[in-house]
Formats: sequence, structure tokens, C-alpha cells
Amino acid sequence: MLIGVPKEIKNHEYRVGMVPASASELIHHGHQVIVETNAGSGIGFSDEDYIAVGAEIRQTAEEVFAEAEMIVKVKEPLAEERARLREDQILFTYLHLAPDLPQTQDLIKSKSICIAYETVTSDQGSLPLLAPMSEVAGRMSIQAGAQCLEKSKQGRGMLLGGVPGVSPAKVVIIGGGVVGTNAAQMAIGMGAKVVILDRNIDVLRRLDAQFGAQLETVFSSKDALESHVLSADLVIGGVLIPGAAAPKLVTEEMISRMKPGSAVVDVAIDQGGCFATSKPTTHAEPTYIVDDVVHYCVANMPGAVPRTSTFALNNATLPYIISIANNGYKAALEADKHLLNGLNVHKGMVTHKSVADNLGFEF
Ligand code: NAD
Repeated sequence: MLIGVPKEIKNHEYRVGMVPASASELIHHGHQVIVETNAGSGIGFSDEDYIAVGAEIRQTAEEVFAEAEMIVKVKEPLAEERARLREDQILFTYLHLAPDLPQTQDLIKSKSICIAYETVTSDQGSLPLLAPMSEVAGRMSIQAGAQCLEKSKQGRGMLLGGVPGVSPAKVVIIGGGVVGTNAAQMAIGMGAKVVILDRNIDVLRRLDAQFGAQLETVFSSKDALESHVLSADLVIGGVLIPGAAAPKLVTEEMISRMKPGSAVVDVAIDQGGCFATSKPTTHAEPTYIVDDVVHYCVANMPGAVPRTSTFALNNATLPYIISIANNGYKAALEADKHLLNGLNVHKGMVTHKSVADNLGFEF
């Protein structure tokens, strides 16, 4: 199969659909890879790095879209990219169609085959192509939170891990899924006192088995949540109710009673956030203050570490890219019901139920 990797054109998007090592893997499977010039330059991959593994460089996105049988990207195609999609061309990328009618209409019109990373499932009920970004955001949340506690950010002026003879900060993590687990690992590693709340007892059991006495697991009742938030130096919000907006678990009143200079990092901001006082921020201006509490609410946290994020995403996407390339998309989807769940638009039809329901299309 001829696989094309265009350069991402969304503002401040430096990730790339395939790193040279992934291109090399596909070439070893007998496929051809074409890459738009400078597609990986934002994260340190030159055209020569791709050429060295046997990929070919194209000077424009038009050429990549015109030649490739499958386009592998990171972000959803923007209007100018959608206009280039051809009938029967395979598009494999994040799409997030449910709130995006214009994109969905364009993909329908293109009659291409659109497989979305975010709706590919697994036997464990997880979303394996979303998980890498939650891992990145969870780990970053502690890094970001530690900075928010610094005086220059109007924080309490505390070091997360303390020093010998001085107490560490108390980190409270709400939600013990992928984000929460990775945040806990980093916070423990930095020497903080860490408490994690979840309302799923099996999640708490798993965390207890994984971290033992280094982590206090707490069932997320209203009272427990309130008392831990009020005594925290740093609170991380990592809850998710699949398919729904994040619940506002921390109220304005609770924020107003938190310690002055404490900090909250709302990772769930991409689903509306779990603090009543959260509003989306950007990497250019990541924080703001409400009631003396530093708020960090960046909606695309992995964008700050595009090199790590690209590798993490590629490790997860590569087996699916190989399967589609080796078997053709039809056989690959027939053989893997989880990959089939990723099919959002197929030759002019919306083929994912929640996308269809959300946007009022027939399913
Ligand atoms: P996940 O499904 O792995 O974990 C969510 C956890 O929240 C589950 O364990 C669930 O039991 C728990 N939960 C639900 N309601 C709760 C409640 N009332 N109290 C306590 N716990 C509760 O999800 P995830 O992959 O960890 O993602 C978490 C959030 O982070 C999502 O909204 C995701 O979209 C977001 N995210 C944001 C970024 C970013 O850049 N801001 C990046 C990646 C993920």
C-alpha cells in the first residue's frame, strides 16, 4: 500500500503521524511511504531521517494526498485538507466528529474511509489510541502542578517533595484512571504525600495493589472529596464519564476555602473540567487565579511535549496501520471488531452510532 504522511497544519501542532522508525517498519512489510517535506521537523526529524529508512519526500501536501492510498495523521483534517481527500482513500487519525458537523459533512462528501483513533476500542473496554495521550497528560500534570506551587506563579512557594526535615506537599488526585494513575506515579516519585479518589472500587483495588502504602486510596464520596481538597496543596482533576461532560466535583465554594496559593490542574478540561472555576487555557498562558488558587487548565497538554507524544501515539497506532496496509482496510476491519469501532465515516455514510446520534444522521 502507498501510505502518505502530510505535515500537520493545525496551529502549534508539532506532532507527526509517523516517525521514521514506523515508516521503516511499513517499508519492511513491503509498503511505500511518502512524507511531506519538514513533516517531522518540529520534533527533530529531518527529511533525511525519513529518506534513510526508505521513505520518499514530497514537496507539498497536495502531492501526498493525491498519491497516497492511506493518509496517516495526528489531528483532524482542516477544511483545506478535507478538500483533498479522494473517494476510497483511507484516513487514519484523530477525528472527534461528534461536535463537528462541518468536518463530518466534508468527510461524507469525500466518500473516503475515515477511521478515528479515539473510537478504536480494546477487549478491556479501554480506548487504546487515546490512552497514550492520557498517560502523557497525567505525567505532565504533576510537572505543571509543581510549577504552579512556585512563588513566581503565585503559588504557596512549596517544593512538592519537601526536603529532609520539611514536609512534602499534599497532592490529591480525583479519578484513578489512566491520567490519575500516571499522575500518582509521578507525584510519588517526586516525594509528595499522595491521595487518590475514585468512585470505582476496582480502580482503588488496582491502585492499592500497584502502589501499596505510598498511595492513599479513598472512595470518592462528597464528604471525602471535600475534606481532601480543602487540605490539599495541589489537586489534579482526572475524572471521565465516557460520552458525557465531566462532573463539576469541586464547587466554587470549595475553591474559595482552599489554602491560599494552592493549585489545581484540571486535566479533564477537554470534557468541560471537573472544577466549577475551570476555563480552558493555552500553553502560551496556562494559568490564572481564582480566590488565591492557581488554576492550570490547558486543553491539549500533550502538545507541550510533541516528541514524547508522537512516539507514544505511534507505538499505539503502528500495529493498526500495519494491519490495514497488509490486509486492506476491509479485511482488517472484518478481522478486528475493535478497529471496526474506529470506522466513523465510510464512503459517504456515518458509521459510528454516537457520531450519527449527536449530529442527527441516519445510522
Ligand atoms: P479514564 O476513563 O481512564 O479514568 C477516569 C476515571 O474517573 C475512572 O477511573 C472513573 O471511575 C473516575 N471517575 C468518574 N467519576 C468520578 C467521580 N465522581 N469521582 C472520582 N472518580 C471518578 O480516563 P482518562 O484517560 O484518565 O482521562 C481523564 C480525563 O482526562 C478525560 O476527560 C480525558 O479526556 C482527559 N485528558 C485531557 C488531556 C488534556 O490535554 N487536557 C489529555 C488527555 C486526557
